[in-house]
Amino acid sequence: MITFDRVSVRYADSAGFALHGVDLTVPEGELCLLVGPSGSGKSTLLGTVSGLVPHFTGGELTGRVTVDGRDTRDHRPRELADLVGTVGQDPIAHFVTDTVEDELAYGMESLGLAPAVMRRRVEETLDLLGLAELRGRALRSLSGGQQQRVAIGSVLTVHPKVLVLDEPTSALDPGAAEEVLAVLQRLVHDLGTTVLLAEHRLERVVQYADQVLLLPGRGEPPVLGEPAEIMTHSPV
Ligand code: ADP
Ligand code: MG
Repeated sequence: MITFDRVSVRYADSAGFALHGVDLTVPEGELCLLVGPSGSGKSTLLGTVSGLVPHFTGGELTGRVTVDGRDTRDHRPRELADLVGTVGQDPIAHFVTDTVEDELAYGMESLGLAPAVMRRRVEETLDLLGLAELRGRALRSLSGGQQQRVAIGSVLTVHPKVLVLDEPTSALDPGAAEEVLAVLQRLVHDLGTTVLLAEHRLERVVQYADQVLLLPGRGEPPVLGEPAEIMTHSPV
């Protein structure tokens, strides 16, 4: 689903590579956990999938990243939005509307879907993420875990095949983190969504991962493998 073909990234004014020699495939319908020390290139790698790198960040991308056959260098993030949903650490910073229902509908507005289709997808997403009782609530009144579930829901309404999440539980307490991870696991199992999730607290997510992609940093090449296998030589 996501293919990295000898991918390296170097930012402007930077002597070294932010990401070097990534050459691997993340299969469809798996939850792939991206781990590595701070500065090892996790956010950069996620950015090459969503198109933020290099379109918004600048810098030079060599090699090729394709998502479902679409080359992210030739498509700007907006042209990937129907295929790749992106969720960050701080949902409140990215909310565009004030209530749960409005936020879920917002992501679809640029796609030109019929109003009836949009309403149905909002209902589906409310159910899928366990948000139905919160539909009319102000986003600011929600707990951190609920806000993060809304952020995930707001990108799911367009039915992306891939979901990219950059440390989505880092601001959450363990219970709320659990709530978000359970939702992600359901997406992988029920919808066959491919999830790529960066996290530095490995212990929180490793039980949910089908595969682990380790970015060791310090110029060492990335390693992709089964969780148990990667854990035995992980520095994190
Ligand atoms: P991680 O998410 O694992 O902490 P990043 O991908 O954020 O790693 O960063 C990898 C390297 O690239 C770091 O050395 C960081 O300082 C640098 N970097 C990240 N984003 C930018 C940017 N927009 N411009 C220049 N350098 C950057
Ligand atoms: Mg990061």
